Amino acid sequence: MGNSFKLDPWGSSALAEEDYTRLIKEFGIEEIDDATRLKMNDNRFIRRKIMFGHRDLQYVFKAIELGQPWAVMSGIKPSGPFHLGTLTTALEIVEFQKMGAKAYYCIADVESWEDNGIPWEEAEDDAIDNLADILALGLDPKNAYIWRQSEEPIVKDVVYRVSRLVTQNMLNAIYGEKTFGLYLSALIQVGDIILPQIQDVPQPTIVPVGIDQDPHIRLTRDLTRRYYKNFFLPGATYHFLLAGIDGSEKMSKRNPNSMFNFNESTESIERKIKGALTGGRKNKEEQQKLGGDPKICMIYKILMYHFEEDDEKLASDYAMCITGKLLCGEHKRDCVQKVLKFIELHQKRKEKLIDKAKELLNID
Ligand code: SF4
Repeated sequence: MGNSFKLDPWGSSALAEEDYTRLIKEFGIEEIDDATRLKMNDNRFIRRKIMFGHRDLQYVFKAIELGQPWAVMSGIKPSGPFHLGTLTTALEIVEFQKMGAKAYYCIADVESWEDNGIPWEEAEDDAIDNLADILALGLDPKNAYIWRQSEEPIVKDVVYRVSRLVTQNMLNAIYGEKTFGLYLSALIQVGDIILPQIQDVPQPTIVPVGIDQDPHIRLTRDLTRRYYKNFFLPGATYHFLLAGIDGSEKMSKRNPNSMFNFNESTESIERKIKGALTGGRKNKEEQQKLGGDPKICMIYKILMYHFEEDDEKLASDYAMCITGKLLCGEHKRDCVQKVLKFIELHQKRKEKLIDKAKELLNID
């Protein structure tokens, strides 16, 4: 890997546009081209170019064509309420499930211990809360397998088997110097990603991730190639990471204005959206004369990622912004309204799903 750029899956790396271009080249990620986009036009993240790259989507197309099984795998670290950052992967898994994939969803409670020092017994409340969130977002538990890392024998078995192929040098090259616990949780993620092919049958598996999680994908592909020779190499899709809504480089729990979570009060969410970074001009006159810049605007971005259902409205907002016909105050009010409506509906759905989440996780 030479003097390669190290992505830190536990540090949510902030990336500039040129970093993406470099990473795509350096790690052999394929760009999502127009032909792929056309095939997956129903998937909002692909259609809106939020997903920019993939590994091995072609095997998924083949499986769909032949009516064979394929999988989407993802998970969440139960270390707090669902927030704007976790929403992207959650909705991506739901979109792939709607396209016919069986969903495999892991509660990464071992990682919440290794990364955040939260023992898995204490992570149970968050695990229930997070799972109820994804159920409310549309994950169908009838076509899904859901597990906790700390409880899943398949995952442990994979770790025992593959670890003899792993050296300190390999882990250092991929992740840099980390604690043994984080290396271990990387191997556990290898188990999570391979699980669909052990639990059911060897099948193409897609893991939708932010580019910062690519080290796990590379490690898993390498170990699958060497140990599980009759398996498909797990594939992935990659989305652009959302920056902090306040204009900070990344969303971070340490900076509460950079994001909002789903259990926050409506007043607080409204305040944060109103304080979001826009691509607007100094004043109304300049905006009308020169237009704004939606490409750097967090209001436009959060609507595009999550809260604007209608593609035409999104395109018209973009056009109106750059021609100075849309003003930021008005657009922020529209955004607040959409986000709060989404969260209100979401909370109502979620309330009814708490018991279901407990049942699925086998927690009383
Ligand atoms: S008008 Fe809307 S899209 Fe344009 S800069 Fe302002 S908030 Fe952003």
